Amino acid sequence: MNKKYQGSCLCGGVQFSVEGFSEQAANCHCSMCRKFHGAAFGTLVGVRGLTWLSGRNLLKEFTAPNSTIRTFCMECGSSLGFRVKGTPFEEIELAIATFDVKIPVTIKAQIYTNDKANWCVLQKDIPAFDEGRLG
Ligand SMILES: [Zn+2]
Ligand SMILES: [Zn+2]
Repeated sequence: MNKKYQGSCLCGGVQFSVEGFSEQAANCHCSMCRKFHGAAFGTLVGVRGLTWLSGRNLLKEFTAPNSTIRTFCMECGSSLGFRVKGTPFEEIELAIATFDVKIPVTIKAQIYTNDKANWCVLQKDIPAFDEGRLG
């Protein structure tokens, strides 16, 4: 049986599990990620084998002017996911911080640092990019 990694929102209404993760994860400092997460930066990761265990009906989506769609729990407001308009819902990238267990993901880049908050100090040991990651 495949190992499953579980995550949830703050109120616990939304529960999900995944079977694996994409290799690449980055801390995104763009203003949209900052506002969506209410934090210095947002970190989202692509996943494999996503199953919504509960609270699928609590998921609400916000579509930004640039056609990116952000998904959150309408009960507690937890930031849960991101996808580009036209991408199937099941290919959503998940907010890494919502996992309840240790996950095998390494942050490989800091992106959109041109947009970063002035009070946020970048991590010295992770490559930083002004905009999106190259390559
Ligand atoms: Zn919730
Ligand atoms: Zn971003």
